[in-house]
Amino acid sequence: MHAITLDDMAAAGALLEGHFRLSSGLHSTRYLQCAVYLAEPARAEAAGRQLAARLRNEAAQLVVSPALGGVIIGHEVARALDVPFFFTERADGAMALRRGFHIEAGTRVLVVEDVVTTGGSTREVMDVVTRHGGVVVGVASMVNRSGEENPFSPLPYTALLTLEIPNHAPESCPLCASGIPVVKPGSRTAA
Ligand code: ZN
Repeated sequence: MHAITLDDMAAAGALLEGHFRLSSGLHSTRYLQCAVYLAEPARAEAAGRQLAARLRNEAAQLVVSPALGGVIIGHEVARALDVPFFFTERADGAMALRRGFHIEAGTRVLVVEDVVTTGGSTREVMDVVTRHGGVVVGVASMVNRSGEENPFSPLPYTALLTLEIPNHAPESCPLCASGIPVVKPGSRTAA
């Protein structure tokens, strides 16, 4: 089973070119729409198995992902590890564990994302897990576009695809300077 490449993502129609506002607020000329790649269950399952294999030694007892982006890949990692899967979601802007999900104190938790850009939302999930008594033992994502090998060091972190795509602050974005309208990926205009 080979690692996912940018060509694989492009072949799946998951690589968008344009002028995008990322959830981090940064702008970029490219966007990976992981949901499109994961739309094929066999691809999602294979991606989950690869991430799980890399972090099996952390002996996670639970996988937690942020909704919506992390849900499909997180569930597939949990399936591969044969452990339960919970998701966090925003309530009044703050990341929270709802739905009656309960983490037993000391549970070893793997946090799984689709894309890590700044790592901000991942850290919010890690904080939620810790507040509920869980112990984060590792982080995984389909895509790492943070520009760092491991933004969560000293915790182990792995990604199937590392992307060196430049991200721009809006005030120094060359596409903004050229007057090209920025779109939010996933919106009708980006699709
Ligand atoms: Zn821009």
